Amino acid sequence: MPEYFREAAHATADLVADYLEQVPGKPVWQPMDPAARQALLEAPLPAEGRALAELLAVIGAEVMPAPMGNGHPRFFGWVNSAPAPAGVLATLAAAAMNPSSAGGDHADVHLERAVVRWIAELVDFPHPPGGGLLTSGTSMATIVCLAAARGRAARRAGHDVRADGLAGLPPLVGYVSGETHSCVRKAAELLGLGSRQLRTVATDAEGRLDPQALRAAVAADRAAGLLPFLVVASAGTVNTGAVDRFEPIADLCAEQDLWLHVDGAYGAFGVLDPSIAHRYAGLERADSLALDPHKWLGVPVDCGCALVRDAEELRATFSLVPSYLRDEDAGGLGWFSEYGTEQTRPFRSLKVWATIAHRGRDGIAADIAHCTRLARRLGELVEADPQLELLAPVETSIVAFRARPAGLDEEALNVLNQALPQAVQRGGQAFVTGTVLAGREAVRACLLNATTTEADLAVLLAEVRSAACELTGRLSTRQ
Ligand SMILES: *Cc1c(COP(=O)(O)O)cnc(C)c1O
Repeated sequence: MPEYFREAAHATADLVADYLEQVPGKPVWQPMDPAARQALLEAPLPAEGRALAELLAVIGAEVMPAPMGNGHPRFFGWVNSAPAPAGVLATLAAAAMNPSSAGGDHADVHLERAVVRWIAELVDFPHPPGGGLLTSGTSMATIVCLAAARGRAARRAGHDVRADGLAGLPPLVGYVSGETHSCVRKAAELLGLGSRQLRTVATDAEGRLDPQALRAAVAADRAAGLLPFLVVASAGTVNTGAVDRFEPIADLCAEQDLWLHVDGAYGAFGVLDPSIAHRYAGLERADSLALDPHKWLGVPVDCGCALVRDAEELRATFSLVPSYLRDEDAGGLGWFSEYGTEQTRPFRSLKVWATIAHRGRDGIAADIAHCTRLARRLGELVEADPQLELLAPVETSIVAFRARPAGLDEEALNVLNQALPQAVQRGGQAFVTGTVLAGREAVRACLLNATTTEADLAVLLAEVRSAACELTGRLSTRQ
């Protein structure tokens, strides 16, 4: 290895450490300078190469000054976390090794088995050997889990979906709620189930799937000759962080022979906070759980995880072993590529290993509890302000609220609150995003960063108040 690589590697370490150190003192996010944006968009294909040192200078000057904002303690947008420092370093080491974690006898493969087990242990989900794998995110984990659900339902109906597709089967029906993430519909569409066969079941006032409505919907579909096979519940909805009540749903699934899939992308790790762990009772009864270490754990993107109660269901869904790849590994588990969609697979496990090992289970639990406590605090601050209105109970670490200045009707409130997140974002002091809850435009703050403080919450609310004030002024002069 030439000496210039070592020099550039040291310089990279400094660049990265400086960057992470400076993030909290900078604006959370700023619109890109048009010329800088154009320079990136129109970068010509270089005919000749450049020295590593020069490339680092470009990265430092043209790329790193324009981040998304999610590394900042006052970034509360969507569900995007700050990177765990240990995960950042592990990413470099993983790239240096650059294996394909499809299978075989090398460290990355065994490490993935270990960290998938760790993830299952963190959220108290049963984990038979081979019962899960890392994916690009929950969108892919959902495809993996729902494919297994589809395969099992077809098999139990005497049908081989891998050979024959869905033709000849009664229509398979799945059940979701209005709060279910769009990745479930995407997976159902891709798997040929058809989004029309995905029933939207009513939710209660807190946005949780209503088990009675679910029971009625399943009965109606059975009576119509359809084949109910799947229920998707949420361990933390993306809008409000609501956690479905798993026990009655799991009871129904057991009774009706339905596959219970839980979307824990954002919220499954919330179970680590003893003060809200009771909300997750029954989660361990699911047939599959999709979750995202790249969200609340802060593992650098990308890293999702699919966990299943029965490892054979996954292998039966995906295993296709060409003879040139056949290889019996020590545990008889076969390759990861027999359990999911990818053949060449990235070395995701090292950044997961580093992130979890750096904080330990207790440190992670403390970080999670910090976020839920701050979220409850933010909810209290919102409720204490007559100009603001909390729109959903704070169940995990998402706070949905809106500005409600006196004298505005619902329509004007919607106009105001729809414009509010972007107005806050442009100020550069805090970053929130919006959503719609029961027809009402809402501001949504998602707390995932353990370095966020109560002082940061005060800044956020000050920014919301002043942006709301300014927008309200403009609204009234327009009328
Ligand atoms: C983020 C998210 C998803 C999608 O996961 P990706 O990792 O973005 O593919 C699904 N469900 C919920 C609740 C989420 O927060």
